Amino acid sequence: MDDCIFCKIVNKEIPSTKVYEDDKVLAFKDISPEAPVHIVIVPKEHIRSTNELNENNASIVAHIFIIINKIAEEQGIKDSGYRIINNCGEHGGQTVNHIHFHLLGGRNLSWPPG
Ligand code: AMP
Ligand code: ZN
Repeated sequence: MDDCIFCKIVNKEIPSTKVYEDDKVLAFKDISPEAPVHIVIVPKEHIRSTNELNENNASIVAHIFIIINKIAEEQGIKDSGYRIINNCGEHGGQTVNHIHFHLLGGRNLSWPPG
C-alpha cells in the first residue's frame, strides 16, 4: 500500500527500531511510547483493520500472538504481565490503517483504559 506508514516501515522506506522480524511479521518500538515497553507488531501484509480479518487471512493473528509471547520474554515482562491492544476504527482510536497490535508493559497499567 503506497501511502501506508506501516507498509513503508515494513519495506524499510521509513526507519524503525526493529525488535523482531520474520517473513510474515515485523515488530518495532512505538515512536511515542505509553509505557517502558511499547512495541507495535504488524503483519507484512496490508490488512487495514480487524474488520478485514476473515477465514483466509486471520491465521496471522495467532502467529502474532505467539511472537508477542516471545517478545514479552525477551523484554523481561512475561512474568510481571503486559497488555495487548488492537485499536479498530475511529471510536477504537485507530490512527494507522494497517492492522497492528500494541504490546505494553514494564509498569502497572491502569484499567479501564478510558
Ligand atoms: P493506533 O493509534 O492504534 O493506530 O496506533 C498507531 C501507533 O503507531 C501509535 O502508538 C504511534 O505512536 C505509532 N507510530 C506512528 N508512526 C510511527 C513510526 N514511524 N514509528 C513507530 N511507531 C509509530
Ligand atoms: Zn500497510
